[in-house]
Amino acid sequence: MNYRHAFHAGNFADLVKHAGLLRLMATLTKAPGPLTVIDTHAGRGLYDLSGAEAQRSGEAEAGIAQLMKAADLPAAFGPLRAAVNKLNNSGPTKLYPGSPRLIADTLRKKDSYIACELRGEEHAALRMALKGRTGVETLCADGYETAVSRCPPKGAVLVLIDPPFERPDDYTRIVATLKAIGRRNRDAVVMIWLPIKDLQTFDHFLNEAQDTGIGPLLVGECRMRPLNDPMKMNGCALVTARAPADFAASMEEMCRWTAQTLGQNGQGRVSTLS
Ligand code: SAM
Repeated sequence: MNYRHAFHAGNFADLVKHAGLLRLMATLTKAPGPLTVIDTHAGRGLYDLSGAEAQRSGEAEAGIAQLMKAADLPAAFGPLRAAVNKLNNSGPTKLYPGSPRLIADTLRKKDSYIACELRGEEHAALRMALKGRTGVETLCADGYETAVSRCPPKGAVLVLIDPPFERPDDYTRIVATLKAIGRRNRDAVVMIWLPIKDLQTFDHFLNEAQDTGIGPLLVGECRMRPLNDPMKMNGCALVTARAPADFAASMEEMCRWTAQTLGQNGQGRVSTLS
């Protein structure tokens, strides 16, 4: 396990993922019953953009730094910009929130959140980032297994699956987890982040995900450049099972703006697979 999200925090892919996450949280926390959120791959929760990793990669500079100063930002990014501003006391963007901080800051008293992080060092930082929060549990454990074993059989659930894709079995484990959660809780909403490198891998995953029967699947694609080089991360996708009705329009705004503003001949699109 070599992956360190500190190199990538605040990049274009985080913008789409985190704006999408906040949009889902806003809708799901409107319902009267309690919400359980499970984050299978949580990371360290909070990122220092002045640190060596972010400075070396330059990804946050090309991502969140551009978003924070954009004059034409679509409404769908409003909650993310507000969260980043709040974290930095409306000053320069030195800190960037990972999914754990965004989720924890949006929970109501009746809601609960389980954050899984397998790497010991990252988990220790995650615990610090979420210290003192009520309704929040961090586990140094496998996120795929935990999502299935801790998913309540009834009630509102949101599962975020955001692996590093370092291992060849990530795709098959996502599909198995999606299937198991779909069976365990008929209402669970599952959001999966994926890299787009080549269309063969992406389409194969979508077919397998569709075969789980959990649908409908809302597929938001943010293609940052034409897919000419399969060795590069040419874009990213958010695949959401059982997305709320109002999610597609926001997803389209986020994918389009990111691809067109931060990409090179980029394209954003949204489709539904039932
Ligand atoms: N979701 C985070 C966010 O948006 O801020 C970023 C997560 S990062 C892409 C993936 C993380 O998953 C890494 O910190 C890695 O150590 C961790 N990881 C890898 N395999 C895991 C597994 N099987 N279960 C839990 N965490 C895992």
